[in-house]
Amino acid sequence: MRNNLKQFDLAIVGGGIIGCATAMLAKRMLPASTRVVLIEKENTVGFHQSGRNSGVVHMGLYYKPNSLKARLCQEGAFETFAYCDSQKIPYKKCGKLVVAINQSELGRLENLFQNSINNGVPDVRILENKQEIQRVEPNCEGISAIYSPYTAIVDWKVVTESFRQSFLKMGGEMMLNFELIELRQSPQSSQIFPIVLKSKKGQSIRSRYVLTCCGLFSDRVAKLSGSSLEPKIVPIRGEYLGLPQRVARGLLSTNIYPVPDPKFPFLGVHFTPRMDGSLWLGPNAVFASHREGYSYFDISLRDTLELIAYPGFRKLSSRYIMKGLDELTSSVFSRRQIRILQKYVPKLPASEVYRVSAGVRAQALTIDGKLVDDFVFDSGVSSEAEGCRILHVRNAPSPGATSSLAIAKYLLDKMQKSFLNLT
Ligand SMILES: Cc1cc2nc3c(=O)[nH]c(=O)nc-3n(C[C@H](O)[C@H](O)[C@H](O)COP(=O)(O)OP(=O)(O)OC[C@H]3O[C@@H](n4cnc5c(N)ncnc54)[C@H](O)[C@@H]3O)c2cc1C
Repeated sequence: MRNNLKQFDLAIVGGGIIGCATAMLAKRMLPASTRVVLIEKENTVGFHQSGRNSGVVHMGLYYKPNSLKARLCQEGAFETFAYCDSQKIPYKKCGKLVVAINQSELGRLENLFQNSINNGVPDVRILENKQEIQRVEPNCEGISAIYSPYTAIVDWKVVTESFRQSFLKMGGEMMLNFELIELRQSPQSSQIFPIVLKSKKGQSIRSRYVLTCCGLFSDRVAKLSGSSLEPKIVPIRGEYLGLPQRVARGLLSTNIYPVPDPKFPFLGVHFTPRMDGSLWLGPNAVFASHREGYSYFDISLRDTLELIAYPGFRKLSSRYIMKGLDELTSSVFSRRQIRILQKYVPKLPASEVYRVSAGVRAQALTIDGKLVDDFVFDSGVSSEAEGCRILHVRNAPSPGATSSLAIAKYLLDKMQKSFLNLT
């Protein structure tokens, strides 16, 4: 029975944008005969983070110089533009403003500007006063701003689906509705296909090598191959408000962000034009009691208890308790959120704002309560360890979509250097 299992050279688990991008590049970069399978538990790709985000193509203003995020974000952004051009996927280089609305923010704005210069953000510049800001965005108020003209918007779900189509066209295989629950590597080194992957419904396949890109479940999936549960994924929901096209059209055409609060790990609620002409306001950041919980009514006892039991979560909650309550209040009372946003765009019409949707961020958290900032790709064993054939994407938060093509290249290089040997 075991010998009849389908066999692949590389199995990629997780049909989000990173899994789909890597599957597509694997078919392009590896020898043509390489059998690659992409496995996804849902009946479609891009169903979770990759299809529920702000839709921004970031340029890398914020990231620590030399971090993986700083290296891969801009590279990924320009590769995304080239890919979208080649596939005729629409995107808009509508630019981005990071706006200071009071004097106390000017020091942080200057630091952020220096950081974007260090990261080589193209044509980034400081707008010194309200008049200069309003030349870019007439309805925006502020005393100074950073302007990044190349920041763009795109529908990342469309991009994800296109990666999958390109992968299939090149002869890749896709298995939907395959929820991986077992990942076992045979100890016999003579086995050509030593890894068995088993689904919840009882299907099994064999593979020589495995890459997992499981977003909100990346810690649990990594554990299947014997890796540590640490860092643990903490699900952080980001909810959006929206404005319909008819109102959005005359109001704004640029992404507008606040100056980030250094005490808080996210960028702050922002204005993002959408490809369909509407405008989204968000996302906020509230803990989700379900890893795939897109509303307050989605509750998972397992996810909640597991999180509460994790020492890192307790430390994190005590550190951010005031900010967390603040976000929660704005989440429940959207008028409060709108009043904050009106400091940037006073003409934002409160009566037209409605609740749109939400996404859940897969954010890695260490046992001592630190949110892991950079991307993390890890085998769970030393990469030189004999027999190491599995790589896990353990932390790929924003700008993961922007960086996806660069991440894909990085992962394939890393696997080739460490263990992937297909010749
Ligand atoms: C609210 C929000 C706003 C964001 N805004 C931006 C933005 O504007 N720009 C940007 O660049 N990035 C943004 N991001 C980040 C970006 O969306 C993510 O970095 C990116 O989508 C991560 O892709 P992924 O493939 O790792 O994860 P996912 O898209 O979550 O995909 C993981 C996949 O793995 C599957 N899976 C999980 N477990 C299993 C299993 N056991 N078996 C089989 N399949 C499994 C899941 O079903 C899922 O399809 C945002 C994220 C959020 C949540």
